[in-house]
Amino acid sequence: MTVSAVLARDLGGAAAGQTRLRNFVDGAFIDEGKPFDVVNPVDGTVHARAYEADDAIVGRAVAAARQALDHWRAIPLNERRRFLNALASGIEKRFDDFVAAEVADTGKPVSVASHLDIPRGAANFRVFADAIAAASTEFYEMDTHDGGRALNYAVRRPHGVVAVISPWNLPLLLLTWKVAPALASGNTVVIKPSEETPSTATLLAEVAQEVGIPRGVLNLVHGFGPQSAGEILTRHPGVDAITFTGESRTGSAIMRAASDGIKAISFELGGKNPAVVFADAGFTKTVDGIAHAVFSNTGQVCLAPERVYVERPIFERFVEALKAKAEALKPGWPQSADTTLGPLISAEHRTKVLNYYKLAVAEGARVVTGGGVPRFGDARDNGFFVQPTIWTGLDESARCVKEEIFGPVCHIAPFDEEAQVVRAANDSVYGLAASIWTSDLSRAHRVARAIEVGITWVNCWFLRDLRTPFGGLKMSGIGREGGVHSLNFYSEPSNVCIKL
Ligand code: NAD
Repeated sequence: MTVSAVLARDLGGAAAGQTRLRNFVDGAFIDEGKPFDVVNPVDGTVHARAYEADDAIVGRAVAAARQALDHWRAIPLNERRRFLNALASGIEKRFDDFVAAEVADTGKPVSVASHLDIPRGAANFRVFADAIAAASTEFYEMDTHDGGRALNYAVRRPHGVVAVISPWNLPLLLLTWKVAPALASGNTVVIKPSEETPSTATLLAEVAQEVGIPRGVLNLVHGFGPQSAGEILTRHPGVDAITFTGESRTGSAIMRAASDGIKAISFELGGKNPAVVFADAGFTKTVDGIAHAVFSNTGQVCLAPERVYVERPIFERFVEALKAKAEALKPGWPQSADTTLGPLISAEHRTKVLNYYKLAVAEGARVVTGGGVPRFGDARDNGFFVQPTIWTGLDESARCVKEEIFGPVCHIAPFDEEAQVVRAANDSVYGLAASIWTSDLSRAHRVARAIEVGITWVNCWFLRDLRTPFGGLKMSGIGREGGVHSLNFYSEPSNVCIKL
């Protein structure tokens, strides 16, 4: 039975448990690797079994990707673009299977997977099919020492084999965000999805097979990070570039692994993002916007604000309004139309978040709401839910204000002056994203420039034009992806100089 059939059955409520998520090497699914359980975070049941790739399997995947390179980079651009569009259509054709798979792995509401994760997963292929067609390169004309002229132009060369290592929070979306521009630029890929969320990556490999992507161009290996498929892949001498999204500390480990082969790296890492609310902001829209930003995807979004700074005149009112929003969230089954909050991804991650809930109290926080675990009286009590939580009263030096928690939680602090809040916002080892809420246009421009992050939103959050540069400063990442920025990472310009 295919992955999709079993997962579709899961969505209908039947028990499955025996779904097999296999490695995909050189155009074929292989029956090899050490099995490991994939858990549904809503009720803690095992819904699938994936197969951990060892050195030999990763080695074969990399070899297949190398073997496929010459053919893939040489095919006409329009044909490569046709393949990318076929991958997008293939995802759309099996939309329900993809939604079911993403929901089974993450427990997120069906409404979220079907409005965000899967449509964006497909859109990424179309966006980069277009971007590569529109991409240009540099051209310079110069004088030569003998009074003549020379022309210089750059050609884009793919790196070769790209290792794509992705996290569990937006599994298909973040994976295709890398796979699409890598393939568009003429690279071949070996994908290592998160061990928590291997299902949609496996479906993508099925689609690649269905739409006839040449063998070896897209390979998939399952497994864990350290001393497993992830590390084996990043250390493999046959890999030319590594694109990674995940925790900053994993980024450091991968950087060390990449240093041996001087591999190109692109890193999208963690954040501890500030939101700055000025008293002149439209109150209701701002509260709605911040609630959406803090609690969407159960706070498991790298861009989510975990530090909210509110100008003092509206501080108390804002805290009360956000509290009401948090308490109105409805945790529950992903298939229920009224569910607005899913579980955290795993028991381990829940322990981490609950430890922060405890630490905040020890650090002197006032718990405005939440801080615990909801009780349902049914199978969901075996899942990994936590209450949406708001704190006030912490010192700016508290660990809960400094460290990324990655849960449905924020600390709200009052501020009195623009300069003071900019200093607080920048007092972080991270520099990923910020949002500013104000009706003063000049202030919006001024503060946006002053806050040290890669992406600033004004009176909105997560509004993404996929052509814009995306990435973080400081420990939040290296490099930019998005539109031409992705193409610039996934290919290397090489200059051709012609003396006339
Ligand atoms: P993670 O770093 O634990 O794992 C990410 C991936 O790396 C997984 O596939 C994992 O198996 C692999 N991995 C782990 N150790 C490895 C190693 N030593 N070598 C090779 N691969 C290894 O991250 P996560 O918990 O899956 O995701 C959450 C984190 O991702 C958060 O910190 C979040 O902020 C970050 N994130 C960042 C962005 C962004 O765009 N900046 C987007 C989403 C998530």
